[in-house]
Amino acid sequence: MEQTTPIGRPLSAPLRKQLAALLDAGASNRAIARELGIDRNTAARYRTSLGVPVAPTPEPANRCTLTPAQKFAQFVRPLDGGHLEWTGRRTSSSGTPVLTINGRTVTARSTGYRIAHNDRAPKGYVTAECDYEGCVAPEHLQDEPGRTRLRAQLAALTGQESHLTECARGHAAAEHRRYGPDGFPYCGTCQNENKRAQRAAA
Ligand SMILES: [Zn+2]
Ligand SMILES: [Zn+2]
Repeated sequence: MEQTTPIGRPLSAPLRKQLAALLDAGASNRAIARELGIDRNTAARYRTSLGVPVAPTPEPANRCTLTPAQKFAQFVRPLDGGHLEWTGRRTSSSGTPVLTINGRTVTARSTGYRIAHNDRAPKGYVTAECDYEGCVAPEHLQDEPGRTRLRAQLAALTGQESHLTECARGHAAAEHRRYGPDGFPYCGTCQNENKRAQRAAA
């Protein structure tokens, strides 16, 4: 319980001296009030009269002060070829690498993607587009548009590109075409519809 000093009643000279010293040391009004057994408003009033700026609010002790990149770096092991292996937590159901950032569980791959892309959120799910399965190296990760762009290049390089402008069901290739990891082109929308139909039939 904080003691209250009646408004207007001046503090004793020794108390004023201690208060000035605490203000000087950068203590907050709350800390000063606790230390000297005075009211917080009294501390604030003396602060104003002495022209000392308000003390910055300290970070709550339980808040993570590491940046997402620093946190991410704690759970990776570098491998040859610039790949990174995840040594942190995984979901029990699918084994997806995850970590906690500001109290929220996020996937290691979406975090890695943001690290490599100036904190831009990925569109769709993120995959490692290198030859090391399970890699989480930020530079090796791609979201849906990035993956499609890269794999389209691979399709062209390997002579698998398709010149059809739409699929058999009329989905425009420019918007719906996707590629397998080896560059094989297919209609992403048809594939999703087929999967849905299979699930419904199961
Ligand atoms: Zn990799
Ligand atoms: Zn289609």
